[in-house]
Amino acid sequence: MRDFSRDISALALNTATIRQWDLRHIVDNCAKAGIKHISPWRDQVRSEGTATVRRWLSEAGLHPSAYLRAGLFTYADREAAANARDENFAAMDEAAELGCRNLVVLAGGLPKAADLPKERNIEAARYQVGRGIEDMLPRARDLGLKLVVEPLHPMYAADRCCLNTLDQVLDLCDELDPASEVIGVAIDVYHVWWDPRLREQIDRAGSVNGRIQAFHVNDWLVPTRDMLNDRGMMGDGIIDIPKIRNWVESAGYGGPCEVEIFSDAWREREGQEVLNTCVDRFRRFV
Ligand code: ZN
Repeated sequence: MRDFSRDISALALNTATIRQWDLRHIVDNCAKAGIKHISPWRDQVRSEGTATVRRWLSEAGLHPSAYLRAGLFTYADREAAANARDENFAAMDEAAELGCRNLVVLAGGLPKAADLPKERNIEAARYQVGRGIEDMLPRARDLGLKLVVEPLHPMYAADRCCLNTLDQVLDLCDELDPASEVIGVAIDVYHVWWDPRLREQIDRAGSVNGRIQAFHVNDWLVPTRDMLNDRGMMGDGIIDIPKIRNWVESAGYGGPCEVEIFSDAWREREGQEVLNTCVDRFRRFV
C-alpha cells in the first residue's frame, strides 16, 4: 500500500470541496500545496472555456483526473430525455477538449416530473440508465474517454442515483463492456463503506484491467444532518478509509485518490483552511 503520510502525489481534489474559491484560485492554490490532480465540475469549466482551463492546468502542473459530470438518464418525458442526451454528449466533448480521460457518470433517480420523483418503477429506471450509458459508448470510444460510473449510497436511490451498490455497477459493466475498454467504476468510501459484500466486489472490479478508475475519500459523520451536504472530512467520521484503500490497491488500483467533500460546514471556513486540512487529513487518515 502506498505511503501517503510522506507523499501526497496521489491526492486529487474534487473542486466542489472548496466551492468558496473559484476555479482559478483552486488551481493556483493546489499547485502551491504540491497537489498534482484535480477534478473540476462542468459549470466551472464552461464559464471559463475548456481551452483556458486546459492551459491553466498545464501551467500549474495539474492533471485533470476526472470531469464532473454526465448521466442523469432517467426522465419521464422525451423532451427532457433528449436535452439530457445533448448535455451528455457535450460533456464528453468538453472532457476531451480538457484533456481529461475520465468522465464521471451518475445514473439518476426515479424519473422526474417537475422536481419530484413520480414513477415508482425502479427496475425501469435502472433499465433506462443502462440504455443511456450504452448510447454514449461509441462516442466515448471515439474520443478515447472512460465513462466512470459511480454507485451512490441507497439513500439517494429515489432522487439521484438508482445504482446503489458496486455489485450493480459491475453487472452493468459486464453487460455493456466486459473488457472495460470504455466503462469504469468509481469507488467512493461514502457510498460503499456499509456494504457487507464490499471486499468481494472490489476484488471482482479489480479482476478486469482498467475497471477501477477512481477512488474517492471523505467520511461518514454520525449523526449525518443533511443527506447531500454534510459529508465529513477524513478522520471525523466512522469509515475505515485505509482498510478500503488497501482493498482497492490490492485489487490493482494505483491511481489518484480524490478528496470529495460536499459540506455546508466546510464551505463556511476559509478556503485555505479547508485545503490545508484536506492535505493534513489525507496524510493521516487515508
Ligand atoms: Zn464520489
